[in-house]
Amino acid sequence: MELYQRRIYRLKIKKLTQISEQQFDVIWDDGHRGPVDLRVLRDFCPCAGCKGETVLLKTYVPPPADKQTPGRYKLLSVEKVGGYAMKFEWGDGHSLGLYTWEHLRSLCGCGCQSSEKGV
Ligand SMILES: [Zn+2]
Ligand SMILES: [Zn+2]
Repeated sequence: MELYQRRIYRLKIKKLTQISEQQFDVIWDDGHRGPVDLRVLRDFCPCAGCKGETVLLKTYVPPPADKQTPGRYKLLSVEKVGGYAMKFEWGDGHSLGLYTWEHLRSLCGCGCQSSEKGV
């Protein structure tokens, strides 16, 4: 049962506004507010092609991202998925990854997250 404890606290996005070509302004349910960079969003695309996946104990590791791909950082659409995630469609065809709210929060650019990302 304890395994499920960490799910009790659920982040929620209250408002997501694109404020410029490169940036979103995100307001969270817990009162937090911070910017999310479009390039960061794309670089942390959670789809299987970017992130890799494990199927039947075989781990697929994606090739290094080619950041020169045309349209890579062009956002075509944003869609809310259920009550837990957002879907972003990118100009290079990536649209399958679900950005859960927890994932989005980890990309917050205000400095509240650990700086492991190398951004
Ligand atoms: Zn992807
Ligand atoms: Zn933050």
